[in-house]
Amino acid sequence: MIKYPKKINKADYSENIKNPKTFYGLNPKIEFCSKCTYSNQKPTTEKEYNHKINTKKSTLTIENNVCRACKVLKEKKNTDWSKRKKLLKKICNKYRNKDGTYDCIVPGSGGKDSFYASYILKYEFGMNPLTVTWAPHIYTSWGWKNFNSWIHSGFDNYLFTPNGRTHRLLSRLSLENLFHPFQPFIMGQYYFPARIAAKFKIPLVFYGDTNAEFGHKEDFSNPQRNLHFFTTNNTSNIHIGGTSLKDLKKNFKLKQKDLDPYLPLKPKELKNINLNIQYLGFYIPWHPQECYYFASENGNFSAAPERNAGTHQKYTGIDDKLDDFHYYTTFIKFGIGRSTYDTSVEIRNGEIDRNEGISLIKKYEGEFPNRFSQEVFNYFSINKKEFPQAYKQFEKAEMDIDYFNLLTDKFRSPHIWKYTKNSWKLRRKVWDK
Ligand SMILES: [Zn+2]
Repeated sequence: MIKYPKKINKADYSENIKNPKTFYGLNPKIEFCSKCTYSNQKPTTEKEYNHKINTKKSTLTIENNVCRACKVLKEKKNTDWSKRKKLLKKICNKYRNKDGTYDCIVPGSGGKDSFYASYILKYEFGMNPLTVTWAPHIYTSWGWKNFNSWIHSGFDNYLFTPNGRTHRLLSRLSLENLFHPFQPFIMGQYYFPARIAAKFKIPLVFYGDTNAEFGHKEDFSNPQRNLHFFTTNNTSNIHIGGTSLKDLKKNFKLKQKDLDPYLPLKPKELKNINLNIQYLGFYIPWHPQECYYFASENGNFSAAPERNAGTHQKYTGIDDKLDDFHYYTTFIKFGIGRSTYDTSVEIRNGEIDRNEGISLIKKYEGEFPNRFSQEVFNYFSINKKEFPQAYKQFEKAEMDIDYFNLLTDKFRSPHIWKYTKNSWKLRRKVWDK
């Protein structure tokens, strides 16, 4: 039974407490990069299926006051891009199907990056990409329009929309147990392209910008993604929304078939096609804002009519009404909200300087995502009619603002947050000396 969240003990969050508790195995000493706005609390990619509430998070490294993402930027600037482009041509020549049948997969949502990737592969490098999409939780109207513009710029697409009830239930569990409502989406989206590759025997997948550029542990000098990220032989330890597969079946009455789309593949499923998963960002210098201009010019991509909650930005991650909540949860757990994510990228790409980034963070970071909140709370509500079995597992199956706020406080790590003068404040901010 999932209990209604209890009020937290405010004493843990007092201003002058000596060694405040630290959640998620985060580094108790918060440090910021001196070049961008990232902190050492930023989680880096891990295998989502191993992630439980007590899993120790791996996080961004900062050495000599410079984060790994900014170090990669230096590498990026020193790269011989004409040489890399020749390498890309070579790969395309090797895999291209002369009869026009699909020779590569480009996963994406129809945002600026997937638009750019598929467009240049097709029109500049003569490839025959199949685009594949794992649907957002709830499309924004402008996200849906951009998705269609993408297809109409000359691509076939497989859109997979997971069973709405299963996806809602898993997302609610992820919110409840991990304060990570996006986890089921991330898992499904992650494995779907490899699954399609296996099904249609398409041996090449192209992602856009490299994970290394965001400070993850992968190497910028390696264009290939290791298949072990997508596969496992051992499903016994897999959790979704902090719940084991066994419990999802026994208590929440989900079937193996409901869970399959969220699970990594078996290595043998990929063996016959010798799958090669590549980063296009290794071969072409990736620049998100340029991708935005490119997609607007060549494919009627439009920015959102309003800025995203918690940031000044209008053109990144705009197709899902739950996106605002995803970044709100990262702000609560790691002290890193959407404005930090966006400004950090823009600083590295030279669009703004660090001081401008900090001003934007002061203005927008941590803003509560009001605009779609009622719709999102309805999405997370597990009512009796639609979930006759699963709803019994919740003390209160409906989600509302009071419930959400209690849950929010439960996931605040005391080393990040203090409660003073009747409000929550970050203990350390990017502008602190
Ligand atoms: Zn940095």
